[in-house]
Amino acid sequence: MYAPGESPAFDKLREDVEGLGISYAMTAEKFLNSRADYDAVTNTLRISRESYENYRINVERAELRRDIVHELSHARQYKTLLDGARGAQARRQRLVQQARSMSEEEFVRFRWSNELEAERTAWEVHNQAVASFEKGRSTTGFSPAFLKRIADKRLEDFSDNKAAYEREFRTDYRSMVLESRPSRSP
Ligand SMILES: [Zn+2]
Repeated sequence: MYAPGESPAFDKLREDVEGLGISYAMTAEKFLNSRADYDAVTNTLRISRESYENYRINVERAELRRDIVHELSHARQYKTLLDGARGAQARRQRLVQQARSMSEEEFVRFRWSNELEAERTAWEVHNQAVASFEKGRSTTGFSPAFLKRIADKRLEDFSDNKAAYEREFRTDYRSMVLESRPSRSP
């Protein structure tokens, strides 16, 4: 996706998710506000087929790469929680346990802060890649303060979708916490 050294933040992310055994799949499905999606239960990063076809003809390449970085950041966020959990069932169990340790409001806040962190990483990687390209063309490059201002603005735009995300988190929470009460055997 990015050449080594092009973005230190991506090099770090790649190192962090290496060995997690993430599967990649192409799908016709549409995702909320993104060209890709990471499912922590099945450990699968799904990429919209349409976006991938576009990518191959040089349309919205930067956008798809950025969305994939965002999703890989989610995989990294779950790394500790899901460490050693083998298979979808074991992974789901850990996710359910985590959700049940929180109230619905806490869960929604937690998931939203994960979104912001993932999106900030995506823009950080994007900006570093742009800056490293610019550096190759001129001697000035962009100042870190300038790049941070851009990332802040992008995060503001991203937050326009906060309500839609929160609805999804609530649905997730309810499906995990309400449907999964353990039925105790006598
Ligand atoms: Zn996300």
